Amino acid sequence: MKIHHLNCGTMRPPAAPRMVAHCLLLETGRDLVLVDTGFAVGEDNLDANFTRLVRPVLDPAEPALRQIRRLGLDPADVRHIVLTHLDPDHAGGLRDFPHARVHLHAAELAAATDPAGAGERRRYRPAQWAHRPDWAAYDDAGEDLLGLRARPLDGLDGVALVPLAGHSRGHSGVAVQTGEGWLLHAGDAYYFHGELATPPYCPMLLRAAQRAVAVDHARRLANLARLRELAGQIEIFSAHDALELSRYEPSTA
Ligand SMILES: [Zn+2]
Repeated sequence: MKIHHLNCGTMRPPAAPRMVAHCLLLETGRDLVLVDTGFAVGEDNLDANFTRLVRPVLDPAEPALRQIRRLGLDPADVRHIVLTHLDPDHAGGLRDFPHARVHLHAAELAAATDPAGAGERRRYRPAQWAHRPDWAAYDDAGEDLLGLRARPLDGLDGVALVPLAGHSRGHSGVAVQTGEGWLLHAGDAYYFHGELATPPYCPMLLRAAQRAVAVDHARRLANLARLRELAGQIEIFSAHDALELSRYEPSTA
């Protein structure tokens, strides 16, 4: 399995560090798998509130589809997309791969398609999946992976969904077997690399933002504590930390 680490959506929130949309492109030998999608080519599904809060740059070179082409690969070979959750900076690129099967937690699909209140209604952009993807939704059942629950995915060897709810209703990490061990894309379980340090640290503004957008703050903190314990044992990174992504350059396009 060859793994590419891509930034599919730079954001420049006011008074906070630059954010990336850290996505993975897996070359399995049979097809291509995308973990999170960042923003779409010509992204036009973002609302004013989201745009004001995170200021997406929308660099035309960054969408996954364009980076896959630059790698000399065929976007039509992306047969699977695994999503940490359905926030607009993770699901925007879905429409660029309309034939891919989209794997995610059932609770996240329910939150986005049948929102429970104003918060969930505001955060998701249904236009990002107006093409009606072939969803594959999973519950919490799974196998033990270093104390986390890892749910194997249909038709996808070596990739598992790791429920880490809190940021959103069905937020999950995505574990990938690299051949030498597991790596864990932790999505928005935390925003800043210092969260996994001992003692943990995080700029105040990001800490406040994490709390503000979480649907279940206590659960998010409990999951983060488990990630901290695991940090020395497996490779973990989050979706938005530019420093974490820079560890993988130059494979970042
Ligand atoms: Zn995010």
